[in-house]
Amino acid sequence: MSVLAKHIARLIKETGPMPVSHFMALALGHPKHGYYMTRDPLGAAGDFTTAPEISQMFGELIGLWIAETWIAQGSPSKIVLAELGPGRGTLMADALRALRAVPGLLPALEIHFVETSPVLAAIQKQNVPNATWHDRFDTLPEGPLYLIANEFFDALPIRQFVRSKQGWCERYVMLTEDSTEDEPRFEPAIMPVPQASNDILAAGQRNAPIGSLAEVSPASAAFAEDIAHRIARHGGAALIIDYGHAKSAAGETLQALRAHEFVNVFENPGEADLTAHVDFEALAVAAKAGGVEAYGPIEQGTFLRALGIGERAERLKTNATTDQARDIDSAEQRLTSREEMGSLFKVLALTPKGAPAPAGFEV
Ligand code: SAH
Repeated sequence: MSVLAKHIARLIKETGPMPVSHFMALALGHPKHGYYMTRDPLGAAGDFTTAPEISQMFGELIGLWIAETWIAQGSPSKIVLAELGPGRGTLMADALRALRAVPGLLPALEIHFVETSPVLAAIQKQNVPNATWHDRFDTLPEGPLYLIANEFFDALPIRQFVRSKQGWCERYVMLTEDSTEDEPRFEPAIMPVPQASNDILAAGQRNAPIGSLAEVSPASAAFAEDIAHRIARHGGAALIIDYGHAKSAAGETLQALRAHEFVNVFENPGEADLTAHVDFEALAVAAKAGGVEAYGPIEQGTFLRALGIGERAERLKTNATTDQARDIDSAEQRLTSREEMGSLFKVLALTPKGAPAPAGFEV
């Protein structure tokens, strides 16, 4: 049994049942035993694969998006290029390779990573040696901010509420009856007392039928608003890519993934990746409250095609062997087709009010 499970069991025993959000935050981010603190979860040998790990085209196209957005805002001479949760640093390395072709951009930028995992930060350092690392967003330097977040928001804690006859009641995690000190076991339970106010839920969730479950991520909204404040103040743009839904709605999406298989969310905390689908409407609402323009979300397939993934694949194939050409085609397919990542994954862009619509989002 994991050290973290025992730690959580002790916490629950001493302080009572904990909200799902607290359980999720500990499972992923406990400073010593959290899921991300102890491993590199990415790739075939890990628990899941992400778009930048599928193909270099993903990061390269995002690099060109940053370049276009930078030029559209008058090519400011000093910018902060930041990434939240950069994984292995693959996206940024690919983006920088594409950026090099853009006159004046490379010398203008400083690279900043927001990352809490020491294991992943060490890998990032190999791939992007000249970055500066932060474990919080607020220590990023001031200045025009160009920010990327791919599969970051799905890892932020969510709160869950279930609608009873009395109202929306929060879901907590407690110990099962047969839980022991050596073999702690957890299960969810609904608090019998409803929230005093439904303000925490989005309008699209509040009227769901009795028995519905709704998820909200105040941590995600806070990030979106902080990013927006920076961009409103200094200029720049943000590109948020993740799996999720365009409109706030009820429904349970919290899931646990281990070795590319779904497992029980409440079993073995710290050993499986816990994620929830991102509520893009909630992110856009929070960002607008922070003072910026929000574009989208649009589907990842639509976005990548608009940025020219088809042409990029053709170019790469001109110097490729038959096997490599097949891999390039299959990567393009995985990233863009509706049956794979093309539709479930969505893209939201934030820009200062009055700035031109960013590439891929023009109507
Ligand atoms: N963007 C990468 C990795 C996605 S996995 C890719 O697309 O491949 C999620 C990333 O977010 C990991 O790097 C993880 O360590 C980081 N992370 C998760 N929660 C975080 C938090 N609260 N603050 C900073 N980084 C976090």
